[in-house]
Amino acid sequence: MTTQRCHSTAGTSGGRLTVLDPATGEAFAEAPGRQPDELDAVVRRAHDAWRGWRTDRGVRTTALLAAADAVEAAGPRIAPLLTREQGKPLAESFAEIARTAARLRYFAALDPGPRPLRDGRPVRSEIRWRSLGPVAAIVPWNFPLQLASAKFAPALAAGNTVVLKPSPFTPLATLLLGSVIADALPTDVLTIVTGHEPLGARLASHPGIRHVTFTGSIPTGRAVAAGAVASLGRVTLELGGNDAAVLLEDVEVERIADRLFWAAFRNCGQVCMAVKRVYAPARIYADVVEALAQRARSTVVGSGLEPDTELGPVNNMPQLARVERCTAQALADGARAAAGGHRLDRPGYFHAPTILADVPPDSPVVTEEQFGPVLPVLPYRSLDEAVEAANGTRFGLGGSVWGTDLDRAEAVADRLECGTAWINHHAELSLAQPFAGVKESGVGVAGGPWGLYGNLRPFVVHRPEGT
Ligand code: NAD
Repeated sequence: MTTQRCHSTAGTSGGRLTVLDPATGEAFAEAPGRQPDELDAVVRRAHDAWRGWRTDRGVRTTALLAAADAVEAAGPRIAPLLTREQGKPLAESFAEIARTAARLRYFAALDPGPRPLRDGRPVRSEIRWRSLGPVAAIVPWNFPLQLASAKFAPALAAGNTVVLKPSPFTPLATLLLGSVIADALPTDVLTIVTGHEPLGARLASHPGIRHVTFTGSIPTGRAVAAGAVASLGRVTLELGGNDAAVLLEDVEVERIADRLFWAAFRNCGQVCMAVKRVYAPARIYADVVEALAQRARSTVVGSGLEPDTELGPVNNMPQLARVERCTAQALADGARAAAGGHRLDRPGYFHAPTILADVPPDSPVVTEEQFGPVLPVLPYRSLDEAVEAANGTRFGLGGSVWGTDLDRAEAVADRLECGTAWINHHAELSLAQPFAGVKESGVGVAGGPWGLYGNLRPFVVHRPEGT
């Protein structure tokens, strides 16, 4: 199965993007459809703006803090738009906006000041961190603002300028965010370009871009990396995941079931680091399946704008088709739907929250990234078998271990081949931590000071001691 590209259903007409509401499947707004040949001028302006922006860290800090305040103040305007185009419950849109503001503040406060180098020679050496130039940020539709800010906040704090391309499925909240931030920043320091492919491909391979920072699927990540070879610019890739949750024999099923369920189903399962496979000891397998199925059956599914909604629609039609395909294949392979198992019979892109039991381990819902509200639960007999299955994938974003004996759980977590491992929870990330996928899940490190240095280059000055 290949990862679905997202540029096939959001429509264009006369240089405009048509934006659909996933809760109805109907068009409700338009956004500019920028043409690839417009990028030369955009990147040139970003380059010109960089000359001033890179010079004074104090000015940048003040501007980014002002931007954070403006984003927070605009939350009530941005959140409904984000929910409308993305589908997530309104409270989650507000959380995404709060995270965006927090990230601007976090990176505004990081100081990559000069660092002396001492190696015993009579030379005084100093590392001074320098910005790179215009950065291209390309992001998907699942967390349009949060993922964009994970790119532009460190890049801008480091003194670069940014050209940001959101997904054609979710351009609107990003454009509004950009206009809110624009009041706090000099012109052309942050530019948002919306449009269909090959806009992203052209941006990623543009000779004026010095760093391409991309979040999205593995196949597109490969294309982005190949495109960036032309300019030999830096590339950071945050790609797909197929995170496993390994439950241990001593896990208290009822105690962890809510947390485990939402680690898989938050944002309708459209989270790179969602739990995408559960491995449960054979002895408690039936209890785990039933506990998760109960939660799936009682989850309130609806439009993200309705106050009681816990789970919104899948964001777009190709993604819904992918989720349906994975589920149908698993059922054809012999799996049993302990809850859900089908698309909902109503307008919009709704899929019932689905728990799949007795899934063959080679079914695509286990081996690939479903990226939707469907969770396979697999039994295991020995812990070694579970760890081997958890690691037996080309993905390596996150993983988790669930149990009562925390030392034992941590020893198992230590064996997981991924960038972040949690015990008794999943996908909770601190702004200060490094975020890096292993294997095909990513290249480079984002988050924390590592994210800042990923947008800087070392410049070393040597001078003889005592002069
Ligand atoms: P996608 O790869 O189809 O698209 C991502 C972005 O790239 C979009 O803006 C798209 O328009 C653009 N794009 C498409 N083709 C391009 C090309 N040839 N060159 C440059 N840009 C191009 O991904 P998606 O379907 O939007 O998002 C879902 C994927 O993103 C999942 O695989 C998910 O795991 C991954 N993801 C990863 C992380 C992470 O941090 N690791 C976070 C969120 C999502």
